[in-house]
Amino acid sequence: MKERETRDTTPENPKKKEPKMPFGGKSFSWFYVLLLIFILMFTIFNPFTESKEITWLEFERDFLEQGQVEKLVVVNKEVAEIYIREEYLQDPKYEDISFSEFGPHYTMTLGSVESFENKLEKAQQDFLPEEKIDVQYTSRTNFGDILPWLIPLGLLLLFWVFVVRRMSSGGGANPFSSFGKTTARISNAGRKNPVTFKDVAGLNEAKSEVMEVVDFLKNPVTYTKLGAKIPKGVLLLGPPGTGKTLIAKAMAGEANVPFFSLSGSEFVELFVGVGASRVRDLFQKAKEKAPSIIFIDEIDAVGRSREKVNALQSNDERENTLNQLLTELDGFGENTGVIVLAATNRPDILDKALLRPGRFDRHIYLELPNKLDRIEIFEVHIQNLKLAKDIDVEELASLSPGFSGADIANICNEAALIAARKKKEIVEQQDFLDARDRVVGGLERKGHIISPVEKNIVAYHEAGHAVASWFLKHVDSLVKVSIIPRGKSLGSAWYLPEERKIVTKAQFMDQICASLGGRASEDVIFNEISSGALDDLEKVTKQAYTMVAFYGLDREIGPLSYYDSTGQNERILSKPYSENMAELIDKKVHDLITKSYERTKKILVDHKAELEELAQLLLKKEVVEKTDLERILGERNTEVLFDEKD
Ligand code: ADP
Repeated sequence: MKERETRDTTPENPKKKEPKMPFGGKSFSWFYVLLLIFILMFTIFNPFTESKEITWLEFERDFLEQGQVEKLVVVNKEVAEIYIREEYLQDPKYEDISFSEFGPHYTMTLGSVESFENKLEKAQQDFLPEEKIDVQYTSRTNFGDILPWLIPLGLLLLFWVFVVRRMSSGGGANPFSSFGKTTARISNAGRKNPVTFKDVAGLNEAKSEVMEVVDFLKNPVTYTKLGAKIPKGVLLLGPPGTGKTLIAKAMAGEANVPFFSLSGSEFVELFVGVGASRVRDLFQKAKEKAPSIIFIDEIDAVGRSREKVNALQSNDERENTLNQLLTELDGFGENTGVIVLAATNRPDILDKALLRPGRFDRHIYLELPNKLDRIEIFEVHIQNLKLAKDIDVEELASLSPGFSGADIANICNEAALIAARKKKEIVEQQDFLDARDRVVGGLERKGHIISPVEKNIVAYHEAGHAVASWFLKHVDSLVKVSIIPRGKSLGSAWYLPEERKIVTKAQFMDQICASLGGRASEDVIFNEISSGALDDLEKVTKQAYTMVAFYGLDREIGPLSYYDSTGQNERILSKPYSENMAELIDKKVHDLITKSYERTKKILVDHKAELEELAQLLLKKEVVEKTDLERILGERNTEVLFDEKD
C-alpha cells in the first residue's frame, strides 16, 4: 500500500519566504558581475594611459631636437611620459594620432633611470643648451599590476554571492539553517489509502490498547471529566518485525490527526546541540497542530540508558538529546492533546527515566504471532497475489513457527518472485514452501561445487543429525534432510519446531545431543573429525553455559542464576561470581557436553546400519523427505529417553 508522506511546508515555515537582499535578490549577484566586467574593461582600455610608445631615438630626433617637448614624467622609474607643447599639437605630424586632451602624448620605456638622465642631459646640451626640460618623478599603481590578484578575488566574490543566494533562498536548500529543525515527516489527516487496523493481522490486544489512545485524543472529555489524566507516552515493545511500525501507521490512519513520524537516529547528528533543538522543534510543531501524535521509531537510538555508557565512549550529545526529550515529555501540560508513541525492540537498554509514570508509562508488548495470528497475517499478505486453488494457509502457518509478521510478508513476496521466475501464471503452494526454505536457510546454491570426498562427509554429517534426532524424544520432528548447499551451510536437517514458552531440562539435553549428531557421526563412521561442526559446537557450548549459569539447571551448582536483566554487568568486566564458581561452571559445562556427546555416539553406533543407508540415499538424491526417513528409520521411536542420571 502506498503511503504519501509530505515534508512540513506549512506557511509559518520561514524558509519559504523570499529573503530580502541588498540590491534585491537576483540583481545582487549581477551587480558584482557588472563590476568585474567594468574593472576588466577599464584595465584593458584605460583612457588615461592612451598614448603611443616610442623609442629614445624617435624621441630625440622628432621631439627633443625640435624643441616640442614641454615636460617628462618618469613613472615608477620605468616609463617616461612625454608631454608635447600645446602649440605644436596642431602640427600635421600629430594629425593621425588621437591623444587624450591632457596627455601624456607619448610614452617611452626606460632601461634605467640613470642612463636616461645621462642621455637626456647630453641631448639637452647638444640641442637646447639654454632651455631645460622639466622632468618629474612619480610612482603610480597601475591597474594592470593588480589585475593578477583582482581576477581571483572577483571570482571568489562571485562564488560567495552564489553560496549566499543558495543558502538564503529555495525552501529546504539551506543545509545550515535547517539543522536544528525537526526532520519528522508529517502525514496529515485525509490521505489516500491510509494503513488501517484492517491491515494489521492478529495483535488484538495491542490494537485495542492503541484504539484507546486514539479515543483519548478524539474524546478527551470522557476521560478528563472523571479526573483521569490522559497518558502522554505509549511505548511499543517487541522483537523486530512484529508490526510495531505497522501498528503506528495504522494508528495514524485511524486517528485522522496530524502524525509526526521519525526515527530516533534522526536526532543524533554530528553537531552538538542539534538533537536537543530538533526535539524542541518537533514538540513545538506537534503542539501547534494538537491534537496530534508523534511517533519515534527505534527510540533506543536516543533513549539508551545514560548509566550504561562506559567511560571510554561517553556521548554527551545523545545525553543532551535524551534530557531534552524527558523535559518535553514532562513539560507539556496534561491535556495538550499530543501523544508520543515510541517503538523499540531493546526495552532493556532504555533509560529508566523514560519509562517512569508520566512519560512512557503505557507499554504495549507485541509478541511473535501464534499459529492463529500467523494464519491471519498470511491472509493479509496473500490478498494481492494471484493464487492457485491449492493454497493451504493453515499448513503454511504451522510450518512457520517463530516467524514474525515481517518474515511472513517476506515469504509471500518471495513465493510470488519464485513463481514468476518459473514463468507461472499463478502462485502455488510449493512456491510458498520453497520461499519458506529460502527465508529460513538462505539461497540454494546448486552450482556450488564441492569435491566428492567433502560431499561424503557432509552426507554422513547430516545423516548423523537426522538419525540422532529421530531417536530422541524431545527433539522437534524432522521434516527433511538435504545436502544442497544453502546460504553459508553445506547441508541441513529441517525440523518443525514446536511452539513452547518454557523448555525443560530434558528438552535442552536432547536438543544438545541432536546438534552434536553431525560431529558424532563423522567420529563413528570415519574415525576422524572435521571443522564442519563449527556452528553446531558454538550453539551447543552457548546453550550449555546458559543452562548452567543462567537457568540453574545443574543439580550440583543448584538453582543459581547469574543472568542480569538490567544489563549492568555488561559494563563490569569482571564476572559476578568467584574464581571457584567460574571453574565449577566450566567443569559442569564440559561434563554436560561430553556426556551428551557419548550419548549421541551410542545412539549412532546402535543405528549404524540406518545411518549408512540414509547417508547413501542422501548422496544419491541430495534431499530426503519424511516418507523416506520413515522407511529407513521406522516409525519414530521416542522411547530412548534422557535420563537425569546419565
Ligand atoms: P517492526 O517495526 O516491529 O520491526 P514492522 O512494523 O516494520 O516491524 O513490520 C514489517 C512488516 O511486516 C510490515 O510492513 C508488514 O508487512 C509485516 N507485518 C508485521 N506484523 C504484521 C501483522 N501483524 N499483520 C500484517 N503484517 C505484518
